[in-house]
Amino acid sequence: MSIAIIGAGLGGLTLACVLRRHGRPATVYELDASPTARAQGGMLDLHTESGQAALRAAGLYEQFRAIVHPGGEAMRILDRDANVRREETDGGTGDRPEVNRRELRNLLLDALPGDAVRWGAKVTGARPAGGGRHEVTFADGSTIVTDVLVGADGAWSRIRPLVSGAVPAYTGLSYVEFSLFDADARHPEAAAVLGGGLMFALGDGKGLLGHRDPDGSLHVYAAFRARADAEPPDLLDLFAGWHPSLRAMIAEADGAFTVRPIHALPVGHRWHRIPGVTLLGDAAHVMSPFAGEGANLAMLDGAELAAALIGHPGDVEAALTAYEELLFPRAEAAAAESAANLAVCFREDAPDGLLDLFESYEELGVRT
Ligand SMILES: Cc1cc2nc3c(=O)[nH]c(=O)nc-3n(C[C@H](O)[C@H](O)[C@H](O)COP(=O)(O)OP(=O)(O)OC[C@H]3O[C@@H](n4cnc5c(N)ncnc54)[C@H](O)[C@@H]3O)c2cc1C
Repeated sequence: MSIAIIGAGLGGLTLACVLRRHGRPATVYELDASPTARAQGGMLDLHTESGQAALRAAGLYEQFRAIVHPGGEAMRILDRDANVRREETDGGTGDRPEVNRRELRNLLLDALPGDAVRWGAKVTGARPAGGGRHEVTFADGSTIVTDVLVGADGAWSRIRPLVSGAVPAYTGLSYVEFSLFDADARHPEAAAVLGGGLMFALGDGKGLLGHRDPDGSLHVYAAFRARADAEPPDLLDLFAGWHPSLRAMIAEADGAFTVRPIHALPVGHRWHRIPGVTLLGDAAHVMSPFAGEGANLAMLDGAELAAALIGHPGDVEAALTAYEELLFPRAEAAAAESAANLAVCFREDAPDGLLDLFESYEELGVRT
């Protein structure tokens, strides 16, 4: 039975790795020309029940521990005057270790044989080919026919239209992403205010969200509400009146500023079973990053889809049904949390909403 996975993100690669571990080869088709074609972005914290569980399923948990960023679980919440309103330290015993996304992706890639990923394979469309099979067309005009087709191709999936007419909508929030390199030496004020791990500086319905990478650089997102068609703002103007150490992050940024409008599929996005095809990760449930779940869910989706295919040998429909029964409620809960957290983080009285949220988690004994 042939399995074609479209997209070599964390979700698609986890699926391929778990299948491979159980002797079930699959081919991953990825539009990037090589693993290094695109910067993979900063740090991710991997949750016990999702990202870490997926790595255990792939047999990669021990290798993952070796790439964890020590101290990366530290977290602080500041207001616009750089007052620290909440601080959590990383004593090395936390259950949400931080890893660099590129290193995590390399860990998955290294576990696959060289021919498992076809690089430079951009999918332009797919159509049913009868009997639950699908024909997939690539940008160079070539085609394949596959028994199982998995759309792991992110927010703007070319596979999603086979099962659903939904498209991600702009959330009204945009990020501008930038970095400060060798921060302790070259940008000491910004490095000190950000701290050792994750920082949320919030106020006036906007924020600076940053984290420290293991190589000593700072990775920062300026987050603000904007119309979809608005020109990128001047960030120093936008954050006028904020504490000089926070503004220093913007003023001293190294390299490019990248604009990232944040999109999300409707909360509760689901589809009727279509033979031979399914979705995972952002293709199924792209959401704003405020539940910190997107990559974790993509990896868990991949591991669970692999388990379903392995557990239902020869019965693709039973496997995909079993997978989707777990996928839909889990994704709905995370998407709802994510949308609610976005509203809380960017209230005019920020960071009070986020502080209240952390306190309520603490009262409930929920690990954040
Ligand atoms: C700013 C920001 C911060 C985030 N922070 C966190 C966080 O802290 N924690 C967390 O868990 N999540 C976070 N997320 C979410 C997380 O990045 C995504 O949910 C996760 O990457 C989804 O993985 P995926 O494998 O589904 O898709 P992707 O990582 O998007 O991978 C899809 C792959 O498919 C390929 N592809 C796309 N189209 C085609 C095509 N036509 N043909 C072939 N290949 C194709 C792409 O090149 C890509 O390699 C964040 C997201 C953003 C935007």
